[in-house]
Amino acid sequence: MNSWPQLYIPEIPSSFSFPALKIFNTELQAIETLPKRDTYRLYVCGITPYDATHLGHAATYLTFDLIHRYLKATGARVIFSQNITDIDDPLLERAARDNVSWESLARSQIELFRGDMSDLHVLPPDSYVGVVEAMDLIINSVQSLVDQGKTYSIDGDIYFRVHSDPDFGNRSHLSQPEMIKIFSERGGDPLRKGKENPLDALVWMAQKPGEPGWESPFGKGRPGWHIECSAIALHYLEPDTNDAYSIDIQGGGSDLIFPHHEMSASQSASLSHQKFSRNYVHAGMIGFEGEKMSKSLGNLVFVSKLISSGVEPVAIRWALMNHHYSTDLMWKESFIESASREIDSLRVSLSKVDVAPTQRVIEDIISSLSNNLDTPRILEILRQWMSDTNSGTTGGHAGELSRAIDALLGLAL
Ligand code: ZN
Repeated sequence: MNSWPQLYIPEIPSSFSFPALKIFNTELQAIETLPKRDTYRLYVCGITPYDATHLGHAATYLTFDLIHRYLKATGARVIFSQNITDIDDPLLERAARDNVSWESLARSQIELFRGDMSDLHVLPPDSYVGVVEAMDLIINSVQSLVDQGKTYSIDGDIYFRVHSDPDFGNRSHLSQPEMIKIFSERGGDPLRKGKENPLDALVWMAQKPGEPGWESPFGKGRPGWHIECSAIALHYLEPDTNDAYSIDIQGGGSDLIFPHHEMSASQSASLSHQKFSRNYVHAGMIGFEGEKMSKSLGNLVFVSKLISSGVEPVAIRWALMNHHYSTDLMWKESFIESASREIDSLRVSLSKVDVAPTQRVIEDIISSLSNNLDTPRILEILRQWMSDTNSGTTGGHAGELSRAIDALLGLAL
């Protein structure tokens, strides 16, 4: 699958130094310093393409874009991969409801998503991979789990024994009853008769009448959700087999911690015989009108609609960065208005010949980013700089600051 177009990242002078990134690791439940490395492997779970990009997606992908930009700025190579769940129950249900083919629905929504990511200045993945195009890879992964004796079949559906991974549960910190409850709320089937353990994960689903299916050694069907990310991450991120971990960061929204990331990590560990990810990083949920933003509640704020109504994408980035990525946010329409005003003020300040000192501002931005992406503090630093500039303080270089906030924050003004 084609990714979206690459973006220009301005150079930051080598006089600026970048401390190691400190980021909250869901597995450890603590902020951890990411070891300095030449190469980082970043996997961020992608969309199921049946609805356009809403602000919850934007907040998640912005979070990992900031990590991506920061790690690149340290001089490291970042290999970034993202999947597209272009075959799944919700996609088939929406296509049937709207009387369109699931393929054309997926194509149109992927196109819209690419455009939204491009508008939001999110750096594109090196590999942007759909499940359909990765089918052989996924089938091989299921086969490997079958060969290892870690699966069993119920009426042609194949389940992975999640407890075959001794680390199962380490990422989500939930009791078995809590897991069962959430699993059932998020598309799992804990009550299915014949399951050895209610939490065992579906890795291959036998074809149902009227649904698409792919030939495999275990019959015609399609993959479960979690195995697709295991297969794609382990292939496209080219893990170093000498390392203790396959990848450095597994990312996504906090609603993916369980079951998706937990199960995907257990399957990946079985496939690679390495621990899956060094860090698990999760972005908070975005709510609107008092509820979590979700398709079922119909309270989604779409990025493309905001942009077509005249909102600048850079104002969306600013509005989201005004809030710390790790906590949930109740979105208000006024956020965009004030973000747009602040972006205008920043442009005015950056266009002045004489501006307040910028070197310290850039150092503070770098230090705040390295401190678990403290974007609210960064916005405060920029507000203070604007205020100093407006009150006539001089000694800075607007171009230098402008290039730094473009490179590090994706604020191309
Ligand atoms: Zn995933």
